[in-house]
Amino acid sequence: MLTLNNVEVVYDRVILVLKGLSMEVPKGKIVALLGSNGAGKTTTLKAISGLLKSENGEVTDGFIELNDERIDTNGADVIVKKGIFQCMEGRRVFEHLTVEDNLIAGAHTRKDRKNIKGDIQKVYHYFPKLEMLKNRQAGYLSGGEQQMLAIGRGIMAKPSVLLLDEPSLGLAPLLVKEIFGIIKKINEEEGTTILVVEQNAKVALSIAHYGYIMENGRVVMEGSVDKLLSNQDVREFYLGVS
Ligand code: ATP
Repeated sequence: MLTLNNVEVVYDRVILVLKGLSMEVPKGKIVALLGSNGAGKTTTLKAISGLLKSENGEVTDGFIELNDERIDTNGADVIVKKGIFQCMEGRRVFEHLTVEDNLIAGAHTRKDRKNIKGDIQKVYHYFPKLEMLKNRQAGYLSGGEQQMLAIGRGIMAKPSVLLLDEPSLGLAPLLVKEIFGIIKKINEEEGTTILVVEQNAKVALSIAHYGYIMENGRVVMEGSVDKLLSNQDVREFYLGVS
């Protein structure tokens, strides 16, 4: 279980972005974190993965725990070894490396080097397209293929918790559906706990078990997917239906 308790985050010592955020991501579940631009969703993921520190951000109050063990005082390198991996928004693959070398690079934090080959095959099982493109330089992939590769690298790190930042960003609707279907499959087959940040509430709620909606650095609503989907405000503001 990943727990955030009253987390406050400040950038550059003065810019308060998370204002007492509390949420839980139970083991083996998919949780969606929704909200409009600038609500603080990416900051929440970076607070969990420790990547905040490289942007002059810090958790100034509250705490974050993984399985009852505090992690917000650890560096990003320690947090990744504890099994939390963040797939960044905008994909961030190594453009000059081939697809397969990107996958191998994704495993660099692991100790069990001998299983790497088998896990590459696992990535190809989820994303057959990546196998066809395995010798292609990643910089030449389409946006959707790069998104697949970014998630594939996440699988190579063998995380117990995968943090996904806007996997739908910039992708055509059909591809969004395909990628979310694969995210669900990874959760079911690997048992990976997934926290997915999305502006596309509809698609995120189609695979999630539970959802949080945040605005202005705080959770404003939470609940099971059924509860959120039947809420009038959620329907109007986040799903665009009334
Ligand atoms: P989006 O969907 O647009 O990515 P978001 O909900 O993910 O939005 P964040 O990226 O977490 O929101 O940003 C929340 C606020 O924090 C914004 O006002 C942003 O300007 C500010 N912010 C983000 N990163 C930094 C940083 N490195 N330094 C200072 N302020 C930052």
